Amino acid sequence: MTERELREIVARLHGELTRYGLVAWTAGNVSARVPGRDLMVIKPSGVDYDDLSADNMVLCDLDGVPVEGDLSPSSDTAAHAYVYRAMPEVGGVVHTHSTYATAWAARGESIPCYLTAQADEFGGEIPVGPFALIGGDDIGKGIVSTLTGHRSPAVLMRNHGVFTIGPTARAAVKAAVMCEDVARTAHLARALGQPIPIAQADIDALYDRYQNVYGQRPSPAPSS
Ligand SMILES: [Zn+2]
Repeated sequence: MTERELREIVARLHGELTRYGLVAWTAGNVSARVPGRDLMVIKPSGVDYDDLSADNMVLCDLDGVPVEGDLSPSSDTAAHAYVYRAMPEVGGVVHTHSTYATAWAARGESIPCYLTAQADEFGGEIPVGPFALIGGDDIGKGIVSTLTGHRSPAVLMRNHGVFTIGPTARAAVKAAVMCEDVARTAHLARALGQPIPIAQADIDALYDRYQNVYGQRPSPAPSS
């Protein structure tokens, strides 16, 4: 994949944040690691979603410093860059303040696994990360310390919002969409009464099946 293609993908993926109602104004951003290079592509700061294009995505090094162009990168660039430095398997990072997930973050409560779809995507609870002020590496450290060794690709940073990771930027965007969907349903279930947690053995079975069997495969496989 060329840097140009990656710029187009990252610009286009921002459209998914608005399509799924995950962002207000310009708050929310997607980045991608440039494969095989110590570089990342990220949204410019403060540019309307309608005006995002391959040309105004910002190419940065993995310290978050722009390496070309005049635009400033997203104010969350330091957090994204920290994740890429600390987690070499991560190819994409997304940040939103999506409403329901951020309501859980505001209470500092992880989302228990009440739903099979959550077991599939997140392998259990969606965890809460520490409170951290923007600027410096504190947010990045909180993301990495919470998600390292955790099945969930999403963390609810306390009093702030959602960060998701994935092998690609598209996978990280999917995790952000699914995190908000799970947070909304869990909130409604909690409002109606006491939801029933799924047993750990069942969570494990669901996660294993979804991660290893579900979806389109080159050879015949079970599907649903
Ligand atoms: Zn934020």
